[in-house]
Amino acid sequence: MTIYVTGHANPDTDSVTAAIGLATLLNAQGQDAKACMQSSLEKLNPESTVVLEKFGLTAPEEMHDVAGKTIALVDFSDIGQAPANVTDAEVVTIVDHHKVGDITTNNPILVRVEPVGCTGTVLNKMFKDAGVAIPKDVAGGMLSAILSDTVNFKSPTCTDDDKAAVAELKVTAGVDDTDALFMDMLKAKSSVAGVPAKDLLFRDYKDFDMNGKKVGVGQLELATLDQVADIREDLLNAAKEVKADGRHSVLLMLTDVVKEGTELVVVSDDEALIEGAFGGKLDGTSMWIDGMMSRKKQTVPNLQKAFGC
Ligand code: MG
Ligand code: MG
Ligand code: MG
Repeated sequence: MTIYVTGHANPDTDSVTAAIGLATLLNAQGQDAKACMQSSLEKLNPESTVVLEKFGLTAPEEMHDVAGKTIALVDFSDIGQAPANVTDAEVVTIVDHHKVGDITTNNPILVRVEPVGCTGTVLNKMFKDAGVAIPKDVAGGMLSAILSDTVNFKSPTCTDDDKAAVAELKVTAGVDDTDALFMDMLKAKSSVAGVPAKDLLFRDYKDFDMNGKKVGVGQLELATLDQVADIREDLLNAAKEVKADGRHSVLLMLTDVVKEGTELVVVSDDEALIEGAFGGKLDGTSMWIDGMMSRKKQTVPNLQKAFGC
């Protein structure tokens, strides 16, 4: 029996490398496990592509339907972010660092969810607990994921555990300069040249159920907002188009990693509600929110409160 290990839809570097990491750990423990991802290699986000290449990792297998399969989930536990037919699969393990989602099981399973900045940090502990050495390439992937998810330690989601994991993993991965690694990833992640606006909106995008209303939140992490100055109109139109497809609101976080804040582009049936959620005022179709870096810890909880979840 093969355990297929998968991260969330629109996989990010954590979802990709944590699938590789957990499959590696399970294999070392004598189980048959295979890393998967909900993306083709061609459509994988540019940051993850750079990380796989840099550390010589084999990309996980593309998988969009898990009917009848035995699966393990990393970096999520929401049905809405799972492959098709997840309710017809047998979930045997969940390793995550988000709020617990709505996946349920018929049998007791191993769940390890910790309030840290990255699944890679949780996995690093699991390798240590199991007494299994992390292969160099896998450590490089997990290291990259922690730097990405914590925005090089700047995100409010970052914890001391994440910093400790980076200190250990960089040695295993043979990486001297993690700032340089982060900047290489940021360059890849924030490159917008020649990419259709809708693809940029979906590059790091999640749908949420907010009290019965569907709300989409995308995020582009940028070295400077100037990178998207010429395509703001296109991004807005892409958000409008996605909203028209049955959503109450679509928000796009244009996050300036250097200035440590977000220009929040808002398309909504109820702009006042979104303004209230963040205590801001829309200037046209967007507002600057100082200090906003994290969708998980800042954007989504404020929205949930405003929507009365
Ligand atoms: Mg993720
Ligand atoms: Mg993550
Ligand atoms: Mg992320």
